[in-house]
Amino acid sequence: MKRLHIVSNRLPFSISFENDNPSLEPSVGGLATGMNSVYKDFEGKWIGWPGIASDTKSRKELQAVDRLLKEEGCKPVHLCEQEVEDFYEGFCNNTIWPLFHYFAQYVDFHASLWDAYINVNRKFADTILETAGQGDFVWVHDYQLMLVPQMVKSQRPDITIGFFLHIPFPSYEVFRILPWRDELLRGLLGADLIGFHTYDYQRHFLSSVRRIFGYEIVLNEVHIDGRIILVDSFPMGIDYDKFYKAALNIFHTPVKERSEVHNELEKYFLMSDGKHLILSIDRLDYSKGIPNRLRAFEKFLERNPDYRGNVTLVMLAVPSRDNVDHYKKLKSEVEELVGRINGLYGSINYTPVLYFYRSMPFQNLVELYSMCDVALITPVRDGMNLVAKEYVASRINQTGVVVVSEMAGVVKEMGEAIIINPNDEDQVAEAIQQAIEMPHSEQVRRISAMQERLRRYDVFKWAKDFVNALQKARKVQTEFL
Ligand code: UDP
Repeated sequence: MKRLHIVSNRLPFSISFENDNPSLEPSVGGLATGMNSVYKDFEGKWIGWPGIASDTKSRKELQAVDRLLKEEGCKPVHLCEQEVEDFYEGFCNNTIWPLFHYFAQYVDFHASLWDAYINVNRKFADTILETAGQGDFVWVHDYQLMLVPQMVKSQRPDITIGFFLHIPFPSYEVFRILPWRDELLRGLLGADLIGFHTYDYQRHFLSSVRRIFGYEIVLNEVHIDGRIILVDSFPMGIDYDKFYKAALNIFHTPVKERSEVHNELEKYFLMSDGKHLILSIDRLDYSKGIPNRLRAFEKFLERNPDYRGNVTLVMLAVPSRDNVDHYKKLKSEVEELVGRINGLYGSINYTPVLYFYRSMPFQNLVELYSMCDVALITPVRDGMNLVAKEYVASRINQTGVVVVSEMAGVVKEMGEAIIINPNDEDQVAEAIQQAIEMPHSEQVRRISAMQERLRRYDVFKWAKDFVNALQKARKVQTEFL
């Protein structure tokens, strides 16, 4: 195979400066893990924004950053503060994000943001054009870069382009609301392979293509202008072994070396028998259904006085986009609900909701995953939800219960979870009770089945499958011509 380049909004490093000297810290997210296994094997570059606004640094500092990134096989696309604001915070996070998560009432329809989106996508496309050799492959990621495939293809048809969308693709009736819907679709159709997490997103995309352009669609192929575009679903996995092994380690760590989180959780269980911890982890985003979850938990306590004092919701809310109004309001709403529940049902030695507004290091996340009896995952929309998968992978004794929303992409791989509609708070309250009371043998049966599935289709298999499909897309194209 020719070289394969990865393109994503952010490069897989965060950059910090000490005096004028930059240093790189590798990201540990799922995408970085999956892609590292791919782009190095295929000797490509990783193209993306390094995460610092270029006009806040001197030329010398930027050159030093570029040198460090080059050593890691990365090519930066530099963006100034205004571009970050209009493109990333603006069109990406205030237009596409809410629309694709069915929050049409939150969408910002400013033409100036759209212009910024075009200009930044052009910068990414130009960097690809400079980097890719004859016949190379390119894998473009996510909603920030939907125009890039067409921008590249129109100038360099020899490059085979894959695109993967990490968020939902909405139904046509929602997608059509966007004034720039035709342009976004045309941008995507520059790719040779377009991937989604689930078959439903794929179906919504194809239906928009059919209704907006009337192109011929044969099974999962779009036929246009002498080209064939493959469309398929690839549910993204996690680094299963990493979570499983980390969870194993926790139980072998001597007491003296355990983290504070671990010791505190253990103390909780030692207080008396019959204690239960329910886990909730998300970025503080309106798509995650955090207020519904809290109200459902409140209902559960209201209806089950015997569980008061014994069931605690551990809620980790990771700060996200906190300069945006909708996010600020959400934060207040969540904090008010936490306060209300703790005020109503708390006592000197019982706090119903343990609320943390911060992010936690990997080690603490795995401790939470492995020590909580139930994972309560209630997004009102979610492209996938990796937290659900990470929880399952960390259950080394095969106990635990997942309660998961039918609106999360992950539900398609979690038929053994308790599946709920996040808007039905009565149903969620009942699901909490069912989860807590689930017999041990049934927990084991359900978790084992999910573990087996997630272990087999991990993030490495996901990346490999996509790359194989990309090679197939090139073959289909060549045979067609
Ligand atoms: N995560 C993290 N630190 C935290 C909490 C969460 O790194 O303090 C990670 C978590 O392990 C997971 C990711 O953030 O891999 C969240 O991914 P998910 O698909 O659940 O939601 P997203 O934030 O991408 O919408």
